[in-house]
Amino acid sequence: RSDKKAYEEAQKRLKMAEEDRKKMVPELRKKSRREYLGKREKEKLEDLEAEIADEEYFFTESELTKIEKKDLEYKKKVRDLAKEYKNAGEKERMEKHDRYFMPEETRSKKIPDRYEEPVTEERFAPREEQRRWEEEHIGAAALKFGAKDAHARGQKEYDYVMEEDEVIQFVSATQMKGTVEKEDENDKLLSELEKKKLSIQEVRRSLPVFPYRSDLLQAIAEHQILIIEGETGSGKTTQIPQYLHEEGYTVKGMKIGCTQPRRVAAMSVASRVAQEMSVKLGNEVGYSIRFEDCTSERTVLKYMTDGMLLREFLTEPDLASYSVIIIDEAHERTLHTDVLFGLIKDIARFRPDLKVLVSSATLNTERFSSFFDDAPIFRIPGRRYPVDIYYTKAPEADYLEACVVSVLQIHVTQPTGDILVFLTGQEEIEACCEMLQERCRRLGSKIAEMLILPIYANLPSDMQAKIFEPTPPGARKVIVATNIAETSLTIDGIIYVIDPGFCKQKSYNARTGMESLIVTPCSKASANQRAGRAGRVAAGKCFRLYTAWAYKNEMEDTTVPEIQRTNLGNVVLLLKSLGINDLIHFDFMDPPPHETLVLALEQLYALGALNHLGELTKVILVARVMVVYLTNTSSCFFFKRYGCSEQILTIAAMLSVNNAIFYRPKDKLVHADTARVNFTVPGGDHMVLLNVYTQWVETGHSLQWCYENFIQARSLRRARDVREQLEGLMTRIEIELKSCEDDTVPIRKAITAGYFYHTSRLTRSGYKTVKQQQSVFIHPNSSLHEDQPRWVIYHELVFTTKEFMRQVRSDGREYIQYISIMGPVIIHIQL
Ligand code: ADP
Ligand code: MG
Repeated sequence: RSDKKAYEEAQKRLKMAEEDRKKMVPELRKKSRREYLGKREKEKLEDLEAEIADEEYFFTESELTKIEKKDLEYKKKVRDLAKEYKNAGEKERMEKHDRYFMPEETRSKKIPDRYEEPVTEERFAPREEQRRWEEEHIGAAALKFGAKDAHARGQKEYDYVMEEDEVIQFVSATQMKGTVEKEDENDKLLSELEKKKLSIQEVRRSLPVFPYRSDLLQAIAEHQILIIEGETGSGKTTQIPQYLHEEGYTVKGMKIGCTQPRRVAAMSVASRVAQEMSVKLGNEVGYSIRFEDCTSERTVLKYMTDGMLLREFLTEPDLASYSVIIIDEAHERTLHTDVLFGLIKDIARFRPDLKVLVSSATLNTERFSSFFDDAPIFRIPGRRYPVDIYYTKAPEADYLEACVVSVLQIHVTQPTGDILVFLTGQEEIEACCEMLQERCRRLGSKIAEMLILPIYANLPSDMQAKIFEPTPPGARKVIVATNIAETSLTIDGIIYVIDPGFCKQKSYNARTGMESLIVTPCSKASANQRAGRAGRVAAGKCFRLYTAWAYKNEMEDTTVPEIQRTNLGNVVLLLKSLGINDLIHFDFMDPPPHETLVLALEQLYALGALNHLGELTKVILVARVMVVYLTNTSSCFFFKRYGCSEQILTIAAMLSVNNAIFYRPKDKLVHADTARVNFTVPGGDHMVLLNVYTQWVETGHSLQWCYENFIQARSLRRARDVREQLEGLMTRIEIELKSCEDDTVPIRKAITAGYFYHTSRLTRSGYKTVKQQQSVFIHPNSSLHEDQPRWVIYHELVFTTKEFMRQVRSDGREYIQYISIMGPVIIHIQL
């Protein structure tokens, strides 16, 4: 008992000391450094630590007198404070001037501690420092990279292309180690690449996975679940399914399924594999993505999005027609992939003949292994050349502009090799390409030819194929991509990567129910994947448009899995319709936050989709197929009651392509806006969407009409496909199609019933959501933007962040945030 008492006493004292310390810290911070520890703070701290260590080592507590004890305690307190002070000081110093890689210490041989290990795999290149110092003194500072070349050409060419103050100063900081280091081998490969003489079969044999073909097949034969890890471009996606096919895994029409998180990747990879196997796409090799099924009876290698495989569970819960399932790009951890993990792990137990391969880029594969009951990991030894990493000396305020400048900088100073630029989305990519094209036009023949190619999800497939075409001699390819090029698509010939360090990320606030798509700094893992793209065919260079300090201090290590930051409504419905009722104990690799799950259940209950026992209600059982089709499904639940299913179908289909209906060409903004206003009808944006579709149908799906009205025909055609598919489903589940003709009231009622929890009210201080009293704004694109009705129902809340140009905060980045009501709004709710 006395021990216990003493222990409690000690605890209490410790707490008190802790509180004392907390009180003292702010005070002490205010004091000047000299007053506190003097100039020799470091030595003093070391002394103090030595003293404390001595005393603790030589005396047990009982041997010390009360005063000595107090003294020791005091010393410890001072030591902690000193440490804290030192850290604070250090941070401050870094923030003031050290943040842009080594300004003062440049001349010393010693590398500051904090930069010694920026990341695993990266190390400081010792000669860099010396080189930089020399450069600075020779006066070649205008161009930090490729200075040698620029020098050789007397900087002349360079001056044509860029104004002096426009040049971005890069500093070389680290090098990402490659697995191949030898220079001459690089050169050989590069020239081979230039020649493009390899036949398709030779390319296949040259891939890193090829030497491991039989080992891999043996491992697959021996283990039911296998994790496969390999560098991007080693042949995981294109080769492994073919090996399995050759090995006989597809006899008797059994299929090999390979999931991809992105539509574009599924299509592109399938087309490549069909080409390699000399078959027509859609026959033996096919792909299946939402609203596009390019497979047939003969298909044995099926590439599909992870969402599509989930849907197949509804019709074939044990995936009986598959002999192998490959969950590819597992490191992406998309919502659908994460749900697949749980489901596949489950069915693998009662289907011992099913082979499961989880394939991933070289990222934390142990996690997958431990989730799948310690499944073995097969590592394909990669082949990557070293990549020099450069950071900007100062933060770039406008990264789009910085990308353009960097591309030109590389183009005029660096030897052959294509450039890959990572941006966050279609809009940015288009803007960047335009800016580049404009600059090229102006420079004309002063610079070598540059092929500027975008790649993003909505790009037509013929345009997508262009990025794989070989670069003509003498020209340079510049590919401007979303993070699809991070690991999903392998593009050969890339030597330079430009990485602004941003990506678009979904996030979800379970408290407000608000989902947002925000441009945020990407993770270190992403940044390193991006850099890795530069070292596939030869030693490469990666230009990061941020500082080394920002990399180290502002970027997360890894990206948070999507399941942690998304609305779970659809996933809950899907799992419930698969008969999985206990979601709390579903085997998630990283379970979603409790509140998110609860909110999803609550919303579904409110909609009448779940009953009080949390089971699916009839309405959903009927609509469950539809559930999987629509991103935001609730609008469907109520059409039956109001007799307007025809119209709701159209609206639902239009919603699924919502943001891509109207377009505004830069040279015809006014025309486009007038055309848009002409579609306005009372009742809000849902009705506008309906109006657009109806008119289009009336013109006989006229392309000309789309042209004249600045409407994207592609989107309307897609809406038509969606609508047809939904209509088919409705017939299958025997829901009668009814039209309310010209009466809009039933439609508005139906939508209101489906979206009542998305209501907001106009108050004196603007719109406030009814549920959370959150301030919101009607999006400028909405037909109700000027009306400002008293009540609105919104389709979704979108929270956008824009990078602010030229606003300099300490880190040079300032965000403007605005919340807006995107998409359809209807008014006049009869309450
Ligand atoms: P991984 O899945 O391991 O990242 P892939 O199987 O996607 O690798 O790619 C392997 C190789 O196949 C690439 O290095 C590239 O040479 C080639 N390749 C893949 N897709 C295409 C394509 N669409 N066009 C031309 N070559 C391609
Ligand atoms: Mg792949």
